[in-house]
Amino acid sequence: MINLLDMTLPELESWMVGTLGEPGFRAVQVWQWLWQKMARDFEAMTNVSRTCRQRLSEVANIVWPEVVTVEQSRDGTTKFLLQLADGKRVETVLIPSESRDGTRRWTQCLSSQVGCAMGCTFCSTGHMGFERNMTMGEILGQVLVARAHLGDARPDHPVLRNLVFMGMGEPLLNLREVMRALKSLNSDKGLNFSPRRITVSTCGIEKGLRQLGESGLAYLAVSLHAPTQGLRARLMPKAAQWPLEEMLAALQNYPLKTRERITFEYLLLGGVNDGPEHARELARLAGSVKGKLNLIVYNPADGAPYAAPTEERVLAFEQILWKRHITAIVRKSKGQDIKAACGQLKAALPSSCGGQQAEA
Ligand code: SF4
Repeated sequence: MINLLDMTLPELESWMVGTLGEPGFRAVQVWQWLWQKMARDFEAMTNVSRTCRQRLSEVANIVWPEVVTVEQSRDGTTKFLLQLADGKRVETVLIPSESRDGTRRWTQCLSSQVGCAMGCTFCSTGHMGFERNMTMGEILGQVLVARAHLGDARPDHPVLRNLVFMGMGEPLLNLREVMRALKSLNSDKGLNFSPRRITVSTCGIEKGLRQLGESGLAYLAVSLHAPTQGLRARLMPKAAQWPLEEMLAALQNYPLKTRERITFEYLLLGGVNDGPEHARELARLAGSVKGKLNLIVYNPADGAPYAAPTEERVLAFEQILWKRHITAIVRKSKGQDIKAACGQLKAALPSSCGGQQAEA
């Protein structure tokens, strides 16, 4: 059986025309049912002929990730533990924010891999190790689950506003499926997310970075977390195999649209990377790229090897950056009480980049 969620629109078109002998427009109708009307079986597709629905149900299915648990934080952050068709589990997180008119909007933090091979030392997902890449259907299935949970049925007026690839996994190490997911998100006949509403966060993978930039399909966030090569090698040993200065040179040449900037994520770890000398060095690095900085205050998980920074050090750190004209915003990780915050995603029942999901 083919899970239709794993096909891009052009793939669905050529399959329906070539294998099922249907006209091309039928694929568009099915696609709209899948992604806009969130149909979960073929019978719901009332503008599709009975014969076509029958044929589809014989050779294909529509498989959403199964919701195992939903946990809600005191701050409204909602974490879903999802089970994929082969029994593997991932987590996705919904983060609320208020728009200017007072309405509630949501940002979803998406996973792209089951586990992660990068082994960043502060990250629960990193400690899980790598299990496998997620498919396009599994990545976007998380969005369907979230929209269904939110009752977000009007594509013209979505309450799920932004998507950030900051959950479990390193998106650029699953580049093929992530790129297919980004292209599908961009379809105005499907989920219709403009690239301005999507951010892909990477710890810095040379090959994938270039391809993502050339596609223009999402904004870029880079997990920096250390201002020197030595410290980065300690905190993110695998990511640091691409030397910091080389990565920055690549980012200086990264294709950006007008007014687009690269977001640097910097997780403040108490007594490790939160000193004035780190802030000064960080200002030098960030100032060399068209970017902005998100400072994320670390939340120690149970048994974590690092401590939270003190408030004084966070403030002093921020001030050093501002004095050097670097845009830096301190973000509080949300969902701490349900382990949905930065570096806490790990898909263990009942509770995991592991998510630098401070609000986007
Ligand atoms: S921080 Fe991101 S890249 Fe690093 S181990 Fe965690 S999930 Fe992987």
